[in-house]
Amino acid sequence: MNKKLIMVALLSAFAGSAANAAVTDAMIANDATTTGDVLSWGMGTNGQRFSPLTDINTKTVSKLVPAWSFSFGGEKQRGQESQPLIYNGKMFVTSSYSRIYALDVKTGAKLWKYEQRLPEGIMPCCDVVNRGAALYDNLVIFGTLDAYLVALDQDTGKVVWKEKVDDYAAGYSMSAAPLIAKGLLLTGVSGGEFGVVGRVEARNPRTGKLVWTRPMIEGQTGYKYDEAGNKSDNGVTGTTNKTWPGDTWKTGGAATWLGGTYDNVTGLAYFGTGNPAPWNSHLRPGDNLYSASTVALDLTNGQIKWSYQTTPHDGWDYDGVNEFITFDLDGKRVGAKADRNGFFYVMDANTGKLENAFPFVKNITWATGIDLKTGRPNYIDKGRPGDPTKGKAGDKGETVFAAPAFLGGKNQMPMAYSPQTKMFYVPANEWGMDIWNEPVSYKKGGAFLGAGFTIHPIYDDYIGALRAVNPKTGKIVWEIKNNAPLWGGVMTTAGGLVFYGTPEGFLKAVDAKTGKELWKFQTGSGIVAPPVTWKEGTTQYVSVVSGWGGAVPLWGGDIAKKVNFLEQGGSVWVFKLSK
Ligand code: CA
Ligand code: CA
Repeated sequence: MNKKLIMVALLSAFAGSAANAAVTDAMIANDATTTGDVLSWGMGTNGQRFSPLTDINTKTVSKLVPAWSFSFGGEKQRGQESQPLIYNGKMFVTSSYSRIYALDVKTGAKLWKYEQRLPEGIMPCCDVVNRGAALYDNLVIFGTLDAYLVALDQDTGKVVWKEKVDDYAAGYSMSAAPLIAKGLLLTGVSGGEFGVVGRVEARNPRTGKLVWTRPMIEGQTGYKYDEAGNKSDNGVTGTTNKTWPGDTWKTGGAATWLGGTYDNVTGLAYFGTGNPAPWNSHLRPGDNLYSASTVALDLTNGQIKWSYQTTPHDGWDYDGVNEFITFDLDGKRVGAKADRNGFFYVMDANTGKLENAFPFVKNITWATGIDLKTGRPNYIDKGRPGDPTKGKAGDKGETVFAAPAFLGGKNQMPMAYSPQTKMFYVPANEWGMDIWNEPVSYKKGGAFLGAGFTIHPIYDDYIGALRAVNPKTGKIVWEIKNNAPLWGGVMTTAGGLVFYGTPEGFLKAVDAKTGKELWKFQTGSGIVAPPVTWKEGTTQYVSVVSGWGGAVPLWGGDIAKKVNFLEQGGSVWVFKLSK
């Protein structure tokens, strides 16, 4: 432990001793090791989703039983991708349609609820989901589908501040959990399918006022703000027109729709960026920086410290938002990302230098591998869907079969890392798609794809596969196949367990070393959200949100037969060991 971390631990212990203490920066910085609360998305800002708790372990997990369950209610259900937060005897959990609830953590009793009044015209690409909130001071803060940030008093649910982030009519929305680091509230935007401009914004979490913005598209200008709200230039991102021709950078996508992670050791925040817009890559020759990348940000000035592009000139909506999780590998601080494009990357967390890259899915048609020297993919030229302005296919360019499908080798569902086993637990999917390009021009608020697609399963018996991945060797140590595509996140614990949910409705616990299933529970609807664990007094709890939905039932094409029998829902479950 370095000096900075010891300081943080001491400050946190001090803050924790006061009754009803407000959530501080030091407490957030130490979240991963304090077992009495869950203050951040990722169970720690660097997103490892590892708990040091051991009461529930490989020997005792068979005695895990429900403590309580709470229904989100309402006639509208749809996808529930939220990770609960736990603090001060309360659970804060968001749900579909921009709702948030505070619940008594011991009884499940409802303390308050806030529901954003959403306009008719919201344009979420991929269901009306929300992935969670952030805690700071006495506030709980979350983003809404009409692109607002709302901060509520933790005790009363009263609105303390509310800020418009952008125009929902132009395709902007918010679905990710905000990140708090170094006293800043850090958020991205959704809307990559509508030609929005992805960016990261830093705000004062107490007031919601902007501190700086950093666009993720080359040529776009960032701004900084003084305490009075005066705006000034904070520099252009990259070099205008270097990797985007003509005016294409003005509607270039790179939505930061999954939010970010922050590492105490490097002091950097890491945001993934989505697909370049439109999907038709022939309309924007070049690498299209900084789309489909991991971007490391210096929080003191809002400048890009480094970036690594996983899919240069993306032509498949391989996006690139997947979370970047930092960890120690042979004494070096590195980060890992399981990308939608099917490759697993390990990078130096300080510099972005590629350390390792290997496939974590079995079928990849667009590249033979990643060149570890240059950091670039070795493309398979025939794997790119054709240019509709060339050849005989007419308006619809040549169709290709591409794997993974655009929904990805992994999508929004976060993986977990265990420092005990030194393995990542990756919720992967094996599927492919027929994809073709079409002409398209930008129109505000219109879908900006220029492509069509049909998704297909590759194997009869499964699409989903939970895989234990060794980041050093690239070996898949074990896997558990799942009939439907996996869409929920993963958690691992010092009790030697890995928890994950399935669209078929089961929350499962398996042995982290072997993948042997040790426990499961049917939650009544499909799970597309990540579990959490914490200790309240002397009792360790596990919680997960249940409610089938998300992008798969909307965009899944031929895979409907694997999921169309699943029922919607909307509830949060809490478990503990029976006496
Ligand atoms: Ca904690
Ligand atoms: Ca996308």
